[in-house]
Amino acid sequence: MPFTTLSELKTRLDAGETTAVALAGLYLDRIAEHNDNLNAFVHIDPAHVLAQAEASDAYRAKHAPRALEGLPIAVKDIFCTQDGPTQCCSNILKGFHAPYDAHVITRLKEAGAVLVGKTNMDEFAMGSSTETSAFGVCRNPWDTDRIPGGSSGGSAAAVAAALTPAALGTDTGGSIRQPASICGITGLKPTYGRVSRRGIIAFASSLDQAGPMTRTVKDSAMITAAICGHDSMDSTCVSDAPVIDWLGSCDKTDMKGLKIGKPKEYFVDGMDAGVRASIEEALRRCAELGAEIIDISLPHTEAAVAAYYVIAPSEASANLSRYDGVRFGQRCKDPEDLLDMYTRSRDEGFGSEVKRRILTGTFALSSGYYDAYYIKAQRVRTKIRQDFIDAFEQVDVIATPTSPITAFKLGEKTDDPLTMYLSDIFTIAVNLAGLPGLSQPCGFVEGLPVGLQWIAPAWREDLILGAASAYEAATDWLQIPAGFGGEA
Ligand code: GLN
Repeated sequence: MPFTTLSELKTRLDAGETTAVALAGLYLDRIAEHNDNLNAFVHIDPAHVLAQAEASDAYRAKHAPRALEGLPIAVKDIFCTQDGPTQCCSNILKGFHAPYDAHVITRLKEAGAVLVGKTNMDEFAMGSSTETSAFGVCRNPWDTDRIPGGSSGGSAAAVAAALTPAALGTDTGGSIRQPASICGITGLKPTYGRVSRRGIIAFASSLDQAGPMTRTVKDSAMITAAICGHDSMDSTCVSDAPVIDWLGSCDKTDMKGLKIGKPKEYFVDGMDAGVRASIEEALRRCAELGAEIIDISLPHTEAAVAAYYVIAPSEASANLSRYDGVRFGQRCKDPEDLLDMYTRSRDEGFGSEVKRRILTGTFALSSGYYDAYYIKAQRVRTKIRQDFIDAFEQVDVIATPTSPITAFKLGEKTDDPLTMYLSDIFTIAVNLAGLPGLSQPCGFVEGLPVGLQWIAPAWREDLILGAASAYEAATDWLQIPAGFGGEA
């Protein structure tokens, strides 16, 4: 039962076979049993979860159920919620209570969802392993000596271990797709502008986007349908975004006529041979389902990581300047003067990876270096975007590995930021180009999950959902529950 999909839970709720209170109890029990080991949740308030579930059952007794009525959904600690703390897993926000709900949280509540708690993440979403969290590392349910990916590692681990049927994450350079891949679940980053960023603690505003992390493709579609749409209070949330049939797109069982691009730059030396073999096998499967696999090139891919690690830290250095000891969270003791307060509050509150990003970003934006770094990175970004536009003249969707490697051991890369940054080599270009991307399970290497990434033109999540649903229907990777916590 706990490993059931969100859609199946909805069917059972709608048929009166279970209740929101029963489901809340089931997942709260699993959290109580397994969270000490995994550290997937950093905040949980069982009484509040049960109260929401009771309210949902009461609503259902009187009205037609809403889209996510009674369904438990966890959210990353980056989403502002009026209930409970919002800390972005940083000491600088320790004890911070947001005065309002993020737009997507309001949307989930309006759809009748039961919010389960806050999940662990890399501090300010900066990382690929959830090891920079100020609240302790999170562990991978497939092997608890390994990382769950990041930065939405808590959300991924919680779904993989069935501590919740679904969760929200955010993706600035891969933080939904990479942990989804590493934990063997599905994660969707919508087109930039599809989902409001209001009330999501900003990392890099031109790249950040929220999205679902679930077992199945359809579950991801269900959640995105509920959270997307215009928000007049986020000027980057597009008001006339093309409407798609989120659930209907998931009915596809074949790929007849679908042209899938296979970019040569995403099959490189240095990637894990097992990962490569899994992706090649997945593409063979797609061909059997009727797709045409076309070799393509995205020539500027190689520059994506470098451009991202100028643009994202630059935006972060500006966004994080607001944490100065005055308005939010951490303030140092007995400051001598204003400057001392700013300096020591920031020094005490931020972890070392966040400091590294702020320093890199401040440097890249400083006069004299701005043209050489920031402007140049923006030019590269335009070229990367153009690569995709050119490729989509030839193909409908693009398929790649999500991550070049499977889950690595905790601590293995913490002293080496550059190799850590390379974990995102296959996800970052999608954010730079503002495109939708999805990762879904496509096999195992030595017992660790591998993810297949789908990329589509802007606003064409329907193409991704169709292809990924057809692949999902033709394979049975989802039938294998994470070894940890085992029973299906
Ligand atoms: N791992 C990338 C980084 O460290 C991406 C993070 C994200 O998408 N939030 O910046």
